[in-house]
Amino acid sequence: MTDRLADTVALITGASSGIGEATALALAAEGATVAIAARRRDRLEALAKQIGDDTRVLVLETDVTDRDQARAMVERTVDEYGRLDTVINNAGVMLLGPILDAPLEEWEEMVHLNLLGLLYTTHAALPHLLKAAESEPRRVADIVNVSSVAGRVARLGSGVYNATKFGVGAFSESLRQEVTKRHVRVSIIEPGAVATELASHNRPEIIKNIQATFGDIVRLEATDIAEAITFTVTRPGHVTVNEVLIRPTEQER
Ligand code: NDP
Repeated sequence: MTDRLADTVALITGASSGIGEATALALAAEGATVAIAARRRDRLEALAKQIGDDTRVLVLETDVTDRDQARAMVERTVDEYGRLDTVINNAGVMLLGPILDAPLEEWEEMVHLNLLGLLYTTHAALPHLLKAAESEPRRVADIVNVSSVAGRVARLGSGVYNATKFGVGAFSESLRQEVTKRHVRVSIIEPGAVATELASHNRPEIIKNIQATFGDIVRLEATDIAEAITFTVTRPGHVTVNEVLIRPTEQER
């Protein structure tokens, strides 16, 4: 353990599995106090136990698609610890398939979570991040939005997921221009295929297609992305890592 994030508070959404869980562990190992949010309380409590120090971890059962819950998540964190230095907007869902005859509920779920959830969280967190950026110990604050290769390259069968992640990129760049002079750093992380639960929420025929595309390659681990996020939020104050595109070596597109 190092202490590059000592005396800072990080909020991680989607911390009950995959990239969010690995990131919470990584930031806690750097000395951050972590607020961990998702809908599955049992998984968050297991993670809190793994982190170990219950003075430095706050479990927040939250559905970020509900704007009141997203706001309450941020306010609970600030009430508990008095500040918020880092937000990792990670919660997301990827429901793939052709546009023709797609179940509209899947599109709504992606737009509500990947876009609105991230927007609600950002809206609630921004005043606190601006305040943290004016104070010790770092005089800088971070908002890291987890996008995807799908936020850079559109693919057949991925149209609405692409739309949400391209949207994350556009919003992040506009936000960056708005707050960077005030020392809130805005970054996007764009992973390729990572071995997590993400694909498992798809319909069975879609899971088969995903396996046919990515089944043979050595995928990234959630910890690989957590390392990229940790790197991003531990740079000196004058450095902003705006964008990290990170693919498995064997992933072509
Ligand atoms: P997981 O499915 O393992 O994690 C998704 C997380 O989001 C879970 O913790 C889940 O927790 C949480 N979540 C889902 N719905 C909600 C909600 N309504 N409110 C709050 N939390 C919610 O997948 P990953 O770790 O892979 O995904 C994390 C991010 O990484 C996503 O944004 C994804 O798009 C992105 N990404 C992933 C890639 C991959 O290949 N795995 C590639 C590129 C990007 P719970 O169900 O408990 O709420």
